[in-house]
Amino acid sequence: MKEFLGTNGLILNEPLLWEKGKKGRSGFSLPRRDVESSPLGQGLTCEGPDLPDLSEIDVVRHYTRLSQWNFGVDTGMYPLGSCTMKYSPKTNEKQANLPGFAGAHPLLPAALSQGVLRMMFELQQYLAEITGMDATTLQPAAGAHGELAGMLLMYAFHKSRGERRSKIIVPDTAHGTNPASAALCGYSPVPVKSNDQGILSVETIAEVMDENTAGIMVTNPNTLGLYEENIHKIAEIVHAKGGIVYCDGANMNAVMGVTRMGEIGVDIIHLNLHKTFSTPHGGGGPGSGPVCVKKELEPFLPVPCVMEENGIYGLSEDFPESVGRMQAFHGNVGVMIKAYSYIRSMGPKNLKKASQLAVLNANYIKERLKGTLHLAYDRPCMHECVFSDENQTAHKIATIDMAKRLMDYGFHPPTVYFPLVVHGSIMIEPTETESKEDIDQFIEAFKAIANEAGRDPDLLRDAPQRCKVRRLDETTAARKPCLAG
Ligand SMILES: *Cc1c(COP(=O)(O)O)cnc(C)c1O
Repeated sequence: MKEFLGTNGLILNEPLLWEKGKKGRSGFSLPRRDVESSPLGQGLTCEGPDLPDLSEIDVVRHYTRLSQWNFGVDTGMYPLGSCTMKYSPKTNEKQANLPGFAGAHPLLPAALSQGVLRMMFELQQYLAEITGMDATTLQPAAGAHGELAGMLLMYAFHKSRGERRSKIIVPDTAHGTNPASAALCGYSPVPVKSNDQGILSVETIAEVMDENTAGIMVTNPNTLGLYEENIHKIAEIVHAKGGIVYCDGANMNAVMGVTRMGEIGVDIIHLNLHKTFSTPHGGGGPGSGPVCVKKELEPFLPVPCVMEENGIYGLSEDFPESVGRMQAFHGNVGVMIKAYSYIRSMGPKNLKKASQLAVLNANYIKERLKGTLHLAYDRPCMHECVFSDENQTAHKIATIDMAKRLMDYGFHPPTVYFPLVVHGSIMIEPTETESKEDIDQFIEAFKAIANEAGRDPDLLRDAPQRCKVRRLDETTAARKPCLAG
């Protein structure tokens, strides 16, 4: 019998520290006092905060046990489609912790911040090179924030030509943040359908593009994990009517060093450093969503801009047409350092190879699982593949049941019920950092689950059975989370 990773042994329950404390316990011992005690000062009481009395081992076990309730890419495979949960090399953390970086302060003068400014300047250039664009801003704090910056740039561009356009084309395969960002900027998103191949047709765009449309927001590769093959022609149509092509580059992990977006008609692109460029993410940690643009859009970039002159680095506010600030300071610098470290340690060849392997891994899963799971679009995919629960509906098993059961087997479930264009979707993104052995084990787990769906569907409906908590009411868990464990 095949052995799987999932187990429930030795994951221990743990109460709150307040429930665990016993009066008189202590985590440290101080030498006996050899001076008179004296009060802290007039008006100050000596009452401390309400902390429990605990020994050192009480505290160590408490936090170690809590840490074992967690799951991350350092624990196991995390194939969350659209999120690029790849393993982030520890050297990136180490570089970000160098004292000069860790101690940098945004209010220090440029003369005392040359290292961090140089890092930012060079990162801007690397990202422009990777995307085939001319200039970069590092300010946006996440992908969606980059989209908003992009929309503001688009607006400023049209305004500078005395135009005021009101609509933006947003395909049905777009991330939900796209129409939201467009709307936040005052644009009306115009939804368009992708074709039966899962991509945009030139004709569809030609039909809706007009002189009142500011441009298009296209995710490439799109959220079905498919490459928008007609992007070049679509860009020509949009440009011919004076529009701008915005690319949501959150899926850049599929095409680093392969496609230079600037050369296929893209005018603005945002990147997710916390996805593609190897910064740990999830759980609400900091992100970074730089925006790269073509020359025509450079004057509108947020200020301050990081500049270089004769080997001296500085910040410039001298951009009269700028959209202004996207941040109180300069962006999430810690994330930038990790991305910089990643790009420098990989080099151009290995960045390209990472993308190639990400695509290979996704296609391997697609080929080995199709049949077991229904494949939404049976054609080569990029870095992720989208299945559905269609083959399991006869057993009254849905995507959610299989996702929950995967946890019993020791895998983080993939993204479920997204993208919306596929009913009951299961979106798997293995990333390049998983080995063939780990991917094979994941595939076997999915096959075993599909088998259980026919044989003993209750196993799935009751799943997870081997995890710390069983099937939760998803709404209650989100609205009224019980954080006590
Ligand atoms: C993740 C993602 C976003 C949003 O990025 P955040 O950093 O979460 O704001 C936008 N578009 C696509 C395609 C994504 O995958």
